[in-house]
Amino acid sequence: MGFKVGVVGATGAVGRTMVEVLEKSEVPVSELRLFASERSAGQTLTFKGVQVKVEVLTEEAMREGFDYLLFSAGADVSRRYAPIAAQAGTTVIDNSSAFRMVPEIPLVVPEINGKLLKGYHGIVANPNCSTIQMVLALYRVHDRYHLHEIFVSTYQAVSGAGHKAVVEYERQLAGDTTHAVFPRQIAHNVIPLIGDLKDDISQEEWKMINETRKILNSRSIAVFPTTVRVPVRVGHSESVVARTLFPIMSKEDLVETIASGEDVILHDDIVTPVEVAGDDYVHVGRIRLFDAHTFGLWVVADNLRVGAATNAVRILKLHSQLNSDLVFESEATEVEGR
Ligand code: NAP
Repeated sequence: MGFKVGVVGATGAVGRTMVEVLEKSEVPVSELRLFASERSAGQTLTFKGVQVKVEVLTEEAMREGFDYLLFSAGADVSRRYAPIAAQAGTTVIDNSSAFRMVPEIPLVVPEINGKLLKGYHGIVANPNCSTIQMVLALYRVHDRYHLHEIFVSTYQAVSGAGHKAVVEYERQLAGDTTHAVFPRQIAHNVIPLIGDLKDDISQEEWKMINETRKILNSRSIAVFPTTVRVPVRVGHSESVVARTLFPIMSKEDLVETIASGEDVILHDDIVTPVEVAGDDYVHVGRIRLFDAHTFGLWVVADNLRVGAATNAVRILKLHSQLNSDLVFESEATEVEGR
């Protein structure tokens, strides 16, 4: 038995990573279909040693019915095609911002609120990359001490803006300093703006504010983000200062609480993006307890994997486990614990 799975936006920075992550996962895939625009239709990607041809995305294909479709082709494509697929009975895992704040659509980081997937069918939203790594580093502290305020500055990799952004960055490294994707030159520079401004707050910052509250199921958490693009190819970093409602017992307890988070790895030494690119964990270092209610930490993760593809594949795995008799050998105990 296996699933019929499709990836929409398969030729993009995230889509390619989804195919890689899916290949290495235990998800039983009996049929994999890849979709993109006319621009790259006909290209092939390798999945488990087999060449799979990229097809043009059509409404007809979305009506076919899949077990799972992973969307990663931008919000406009998701708005048009994801509801058609969901209508046909497919569980859609959407990586875009199109449905994240729709109240009845679950916004899922499986380690935190994966239980929302039980009995659910339709569109599931995958959160923003910066939000996923931040909430994974913080959710256990929230459970224990109740987060009240989060001040975060991000250091976001160019790959977070997609394939064209990486090409622009590489062109600039080679000496051509013109820019089209980013609002300034990014090579040898930093840009304190990601997305358009609305009420002085950037689109990326609004995502961190709203999505954090939805995932942690707390309207009272105040998030104060500054999102910044840096000349790093892969791996977002974040400097976080957070305040809790209840006093933190000790530095040791804080460290243990953060470390108890699933898929979180603590570092005594510093940790940087090039060291974590290519893995599926959230890396936390520089933990400081400033006073009983205030602590700081440094959080690093691969934006294409933890922040996008891996989270989507983890949603698929957990959804299939919670909604069928299927149990992946190595994860039986893990699911029971959630
Ligand atoms: P990307 O590298 O620009 O890739 C975009 C993909 O979408 C390509 O496969 C492209 O196909 C396809 N596409 C574009 N327009 C299409 C259309 N009209 N019909 C069918 N396919 C179309 O972008 P990305 O970075 O992978 O991001 C994709 C989505 O994931 C975005 O919504 C983004 O916000 C979100 N996301 C990205 C990250 C990240 O770290 N990069 C993290 C979280 C979420 P062609 O090859 O044919 O152009």
